[in-house]
Amino acid sequence: MDRGERPIAVTATPATAPEAPQVASGSGERIEWVRLSSVRLPLAQPISDAKVFTGRQRPMTEIMMLFAEIRSSSGHGGIGFSYSKRAGGPAQYAHAREVADCLLGEDPNDIGRLYEKALWAGASVGRSGLATQAIAALDIALWDLKAKRASLPLAKLLGAYRDSVRTYNTSGGFLHSSIAEVQENASRALASGIGGIKLKVGLPDTREDLGRVQAIREYLGPDVPLMVDANQQWDRATALRMGRRLEEFSLTWIEEPLDAYDAQGHAALAAALDTPIATGEMLSSVSEHRALIDARACDILQPDAPRVGGITPFLRLATLADLSGLDLAPHFAMEIHLHLAAAYPREPWVEHFEWLDPLFNERLEIRDGRMVVPDRPGLGITLSDQALAWTVEAAELMAR
Ligand SMILES: [Mg+2]
Repeated sequence: MDRGERPIAVTATPATAPEAPQVASGSGERIEWVRLSSVRLPLAQPISDAKVFTGRQRPMTEIMMLFAEIRSSSGHGGIGFSYSKRAGGPAQYAHAREVADCLLGEDPNDIGRLYEKALWAGASVGRSGLATQAIAALDIALWDLKAKRASLPLAKLLGAYRDSVRTYNTSGGFLHSSIAEVQENASRALASGIGGIKLKVGLPDTREDLGRVQAIREYLGPDVPLMVDANQQWDRATALRMGRRLEEFSLTWIEEPLDAYDAQGHAALAAALDTPIATGEMLSSVSEHRALIDARACDILQPDAPRVGGITPFLRLATLADLSGLDLAPHFAMEIHLHLAAAYPREPWVEHFEWLDPLFNERLEIRDGRMVVPDRPGLGITLSDQALAWTVEAAELMAR
């Protein structure tokens, strides 16, 4: 693709390829080119969850995307992405820009080793949080490349259990939407083939939350899977009281009732309630997820591959989750998580957001309550012209 007409400055750095790796490799394949880009995705309207109503965050108007594209000497390519909401996008891009040249000249097949190499290259600022989110885009691009080389959808490369995954919509149930708007959004989602609806809660007035849940449950009827998400804004006492009041609505789960790092609080809540507890989206390493799993803090784990550092760490924590008997409902980024959920042993859910649609040329098929794993190789996504137009910064690194 000719990308010479982007209205942005691209820094092309002829980085010096590192010495040939001291690792046996039979592929003969080498990473020759890495392109990083920072893309500002505007949202159609400002988005508010409970963190806005408790005064901790302002409404979200855009998402900053970090894309990594990798090309190898065999002519194969891969694409991955990470993202940030409200803050952190420029820092993610800057960190990726600093460490990405450690991949040049390496065998793209050795993803585990390359993940560790990129992780340790920036370990001074942490092996969690923003640093891992920056290298997630690289790790995901390597997996995409590997699946494309195998001419397999990523789910098939990993070892799929199913060709489609139950899906529920989140974007229609935010707190900036009135009850009537949420009902209209839900009807549209269900008519399009989506199988469940999530409603945001966590308002300062818990009676308002209960009124919204009751109105939506009555509107949907008893059989449509309904989840609620408090986005960490309840304290332990409020979460227990609300959890008990919510039992009558037969919710599929209560999400993030407490602070994301309160494993003990989540564990006590999960033990006290019949309604399953879901959490994990804010965590940014395998270690943090392990703390949740070890504490038996939830029934449903909600990891996010871009946030934990990519597909490599996601697979590690997914194995831990499965061995611990947990269900899986990955957070956001359905373009990636559809494949990972399809490869999880227990029947999972994947979260439907249409927000990233303008960035890609492809659309995911949804029918009968499920999202269908595309038969295209890799993740099955290519960047749209719109994504290129929204690019604010980019860098190309080349081995020589
Ligand atoms: Mg959530």
